[in-house]
Parts: sequence; C-alpha cells; structure tokens
Amino acid sequence: MATTNESIPEVLSATTEPYEDLLRQACETALAFLAKLDSASVATTADLSTLRARLGRPLSDEGVAADQVIAELAADAEGGIIGSAGGRFFGWVIGGSFPAALAADWLTSAWDQNGAVYATSPAEAVVEEVVGAWLKEILGLPGHASYALVSGCQMAHVTCLAAARYAVLTRHGWDLDEKGLSGGPEIRILASDQKHGSVARALRLLGIGRSQIVDLETDAMSRVIPEALEDALQGTTGAPAIVVLQAGDINTGACDPFEVLIPLAKQHGAWVHVDGAFGLWAAASRKLRHLVRGVEGADSWATDGHKWLNVPHDCGYAFVAHPESHRAAMSQQSSYVSYSGDARDEMEWNPEWSRRARGFATYATLRHLGRAGVSALVERCCAHAKTLGERIGALPGAELLCGATLNQAVVRFPDPKPGATEADHAKRTDAVIAAINATGEAYFTASMWKGRRVMRISVSSWQTSEQDVERVVRAVEGVTG
Ligand SMILES: *Cc1c(COP(=O)(O)O)cnc(C)c1O
Repeated sequence: MATTNESIPEVLSATTEPYEDLLRQACETALAFLAKLDSASVATTADLSTLRARLGRPLSDEGVAADQVIAELAADAEGGIIGSAGGRFFGWVIGGSFPAALAADWLTSAWDQNGAVYATSPAEAVVEEVVGAWLKEILGLPGHASYALVSGCQMAHVTCLAAARYAVLTRHGWDLDEKGLSGGPEIRILASDQKHGSVARALRLLGIGRSQIVDLETDAMSRVIPEALEDALQGTTGAPAIVVLQAGDINTGACDPFEVLIPLAKQHGAWVHVDGAFGLWAAASRKLRHLVRGVEGADSWATDGHKWLNVPHDCGYAFVAHPESHRAAMSQQSSYVSYSGDARDEMEWNPEWSRRARGFATYATLRHLGRAGVSALVERCCAHAKTLGERIGALPGAELLCGATLNQAVVRFPDPKPGATEADHAKRTDAVIAAINATGEAYFTASMWKGRRVMRISVSSWQTSEQDVERVVRAVEGVTG
C-alpha cells in the first residue's frame, strides 16, 4: 500500500551535476570493453544460471545510486556479452559499429529526441531527408522512391509489404482501409523457397496466411529459377499478386536474377518486393554491383543499417517506388499531433508512433565513409569471406560447399567414417562448430542448407582484418587437425 508521500526519494532529488561523473564512468567502461575485444573470447563465458544469479537482484524500495548501478551492471553482464562488436564474429549476419556511428548513437541518446514528426525533432526530420537521398544514391534505387527508417529489416518488410498490399488491392478496386481484408480478393504471394523467416512473419502480421504463399523453386545457389516464377505467375492470372525476391541468401549470399525475374513479374502486373537485408549493399561497389543488376526495377526494397553498414542496432531501411501507396498504408492523422506543411513528418512513412531518432547514426556513418568508404567496406568483407571459405574448406576434415560470391560462404565437416550418413555429418559439423566457439578465437553458427547441416561463414564487420582471418584459420585448424 502506498504511504503518504511526505518525502521525495533521495534518487529523485539528486539534481546537482548528476551527469558528469556517471557518463564519464560509462564512457570509460565502454572504452575498456572495446579495448579488450581483440583479446577477449568471442563466445560468451558466463552461462544462463550464472547470469540469472548475478543480474536477478531484488528490486529495492529505495533504489540504488546510479554509479553503483552502472558499475554492477557492467560487472554482472561480464561474460554474457557476445563479441559481435569485434572482428572475429562470423555467426549470423550482424556487423559491428563504426566509431562514428557509435558516437552519433550516444548523442542520439543524450538528445533523447522523439523522431515521430518534424515538430518533435526538426533536426532529425531533416537528417532523415538527407539520409534517405544518400541511401537511394548509394544503393542505386530510384530517386523518387519514398523511404522509412525503421527498427530493422523485419519492420522494413512490414512497411513495404503493407504498401504492396494496399497497392495491389486498390488496383483490384478493393477499399482496404474501409473494409479490411475480409471478403476481399485473395492476395497471392510468390516467394523464393529460401526466403528469410522475417518475410513470412511480416506477411502473417499483415493478415496473409501460409496457404496464400507459393514457394518458388531455387537453383543450387538458392536463386529463384525463372521458369518457376513464370509457371507460378500463370497460375495467378487476375489475382492481386506480390512477388518476393532476395538479394543476399543467408547461406550462399546469392542474389536472385532480378534482370530476368522483375520484368517477368511486371508483365503479369505483380508487385515485386526485395529482401536485401545485407545483399542490397553489393550495389555500393562498382565491382560487385553486377550481382544485383536490375534490382532497381522492383517496387519495394528492405535492407538493414545495423548489419553491413555497421551502425548500432535498431536500424533498418524501407524503400517504396510508389510513395502514394506507401503513405496511404502508413499515414495517421491525429488532432493533437502537429504536422508540418513541407518538412518530413516521419510518422507518415513509419509504422511506429514515438520512435528513436535513428537517422543520426546513419548520417554520421555515411558522411564519415563517403561513397568510396562504403564500397571499400563491402568489398573487404567479401574478400575476407572468400579467403575464409577457401582456407577453412581446404583444411583436412573440412569441405567447402559454397565459396563466397558476396560475404557468405558455406562449409561443413563430414564424418570420415565409412558409410557415414547425413545425420553423422551433421553431428560432426555441429561438434566442430562448438569446439571452435569454445576456443574463444572465433564464432560461427550452423544452418540447414539444401538438406545439409552446414557452418556459415558470414563477414559483415568493418573490424575484421587480415590478421583476424589468419588467426581464425589457425583456430579452426587447431580443432579439426
Ligand atoms: C537479418 C535478416 C533479416 C531480418 O532483419 P532484421 O534487421 O534482423 O530485422 C531479413 N532478411 C535477411 C536475408 C536477413 O539476413
């Protein structure tokens, strides 16, 4: 029961210079963490029960001094922070943070702006105008495309596919806003059979079920086969259709043959959405751009800032070639919100209401790197992925299944015993991955690819150096040899 409130808790009355010492302490703690990244274990060293025991402190009535909270948080989390900010992390596609990006992200937190509309943060709204134009230029997307800075590629899919759903239903004379989906024409989704789970989840959130999705067969590299799309399109005549393709398969890094597939889909009146979470960044390099040739002809694109561009987490980008459909799908007008006449009101394009002013980190990163810097980042990661695939694949007991054409390679560790089955190979591959990760020298993750258990090699951090590549090959050799 609440007692009468004659005294304000001490924690709320400590107003004299509460920031200075605390932020310095946090900064020093962060710098000490970053300085140790190169020597620390990439894998975590504290297990679940240890973390629960340390962090599961009782919630007190009186609160705890802020400097003590920060010091204990850092100590308690020790060993539970995975080394994905460093250069020897190759599991999933995660990426680190550039110093410029991290610094801008700290400012973003200090400024604590609400990036909802121009009125809640004019500087953020203008930064998003600038960043949107820069990103379209770097990624080779149409200048007239609308865009939204969202929390990640998952929400970029939701944003783009909401625009797609609105557009294809409107073309079929259905008023989605008024009637919802119920009773309307059934939307057909034609999507790569290798599509990322976030695509299926975005569709589910938008009220589109599994039975409405046609899986398109892919080739040995996980690229959609044009005949498969052609056949599927024949089967959808007249229905509102959305084709979902990908730039950057999570295993092979391969991109669908957009130059052939997109015109085909357009002939049948379908909307084309591209999952380019990391692969779309090939467009930033003159040497690699051919991998995504024709991608600019799609209707919408989803990608990430927090993966390959190496900005801190909470950053994805949605682009839509039909701004009117995008705006119609997202727009929300409320009497208490102040809308601007000509500045960017982010809420018109985003699925969120209040939101982090996430444009600053991207702005700082793109300005810092310039066009050549982004290109070099992308090319260097690809070169390291190629070397890692070849060198690890050449080790005794290893097999290279798919060399890197982008920043992903696929290897496995077959069981050498005579008559070994797929299950034996899978067991051995998992065991080798666990043994590598246990050394603390590198971190890899497993995946299923075309029915086989594999180890993915994913290079997406600016931190990964040639020395890291050497060190990682030696670590894998130590485990398999
Ligand atoms: C990571 C990833 C996603 C999801 O992106 P988030 O930023 O994690 O939401 C979607 N598609 C592909 C191919 C990915 O690699």
